[in-house]
Amino acid sequence: MVVMAKIIKIKSMGGSDWYKNRPGSLHTNHNMQPILKKDRKKLQAIILTLIIILSLFLFIYCRTLPPLNDHHEAEAIPETPITPSKPSVEPEQSQDRQLENLNKIIDLDYSGQHLQGVFWGEHEFQKRIYLTFDDGPNLSPFNLNGKTTTVIESILDTLDSYGFKAVFFINGKNLEYTSPAEKKKLLSVLLRIIRNGHLLGNHSYHHYNLAKGIFSDGQSDMDDISHEFMMTQSALDEILGFSYPMILIRPPYAEPGRTSDLDQWLMNEGYYLISLQYDSYDYAYSPDGRWDQQGIMTRMTELLDKEEKGGVLLLHELESSAKLLPELLERVILEKGFIIEPLEDLLQKKYSR
Ligand SMILES: [Zn+2]
Repeated sequence: MVVMAKIIKIKSMGGSDWYKNRPGSLHTNHNMQPILKKDRKKLQAIILTLIIILSLFLFIYCRTLPPLNDHHEAEAIPETPITPSKPSVEPEQSQDRQLENLNKIIDLDYSGQHLQGVFWGEHEFQKRIYLTFDDGPNLSPFNLNGKTTTVIESILDTLDSYGFKAVFFINGKNLEYTSPAEKKKLLSVLLRIIRNGHLLGNHSYHHYNLAKGIFSDGQSDMDDISHEFMMTQSALDEILGFSYPMILIRPPYAEPGRTSDLDQWLMNEGYYLISLQYDSYDYAYSPDGRWDQQGIMTRMTELLDKEEKGGVLLLHELESSAKLLPELLERVILEKGFIIEPLEDLLQKKYSR
């Protein structure tokens, strides 16, 4: 009955106020109030402490984060610093280091009184061989052992695998390009030559025979000659993006291509004329008109047997020479006890005081 009466009372009080009179209600049980007030204070203290801890934690966490905009990039950065990609042209300081071998020649005390260089009739080489390659840079592609390469890169591969240094006497006409891609390829090859300690020499622009006259009057004078070499120098510097002075010069056809005007100009300007002692005849053909690798090997063997003095060896940037080179180095030059040295070492021996 009591239960029923309570139910009836609750119902009669209507909707929203009925819970105020239920047993244990905060509004009706006045004896409970002090205890609840104490609990509330405790709860408030706990919440406050939690808020402070959370705020502190958030503050510390936010300070360790990068600025909002860089968030994704920051995640991608590995802990080790990224090395910047190599620029197409090395910074000045490391360029100096790369040009050390060239500076050996530039730093020689040039007298200006006599033409300096290496000449046909010389014989004091103590079984040293100095490698030179003319008429490049030759970027013609060819197939070697199933792989496509270029003439100059194949020659460099061989030289670099032995650690031998050479001088590449280049022609300005071979530095002409018709597209950015061609220029890029030329640049990469020229930089490889320089970086790997080889030297670039000037072999004129057009490969005219200077001794026979290169212009309409059939005569070459100093202006014509200097123009041929300066044009090549400009073409090289334009591709490289920095100045690489080609202080070594070989006129086309070497000694037969010399003139008194050329000698005078070289002397005035402080260049070194580089002739040769051994002509490999790598450009020559066998009597039946076909290039003959074995014929060149036989010729070189006979030549080195006969002339053991050593000296500058002339080769060309030809596909056939690129293929022949490893065998020529191994089976002829090294096997006969010759030592391959960089040309700048010879010039230092001759001209340093
Ligand atoms: Zn030539």
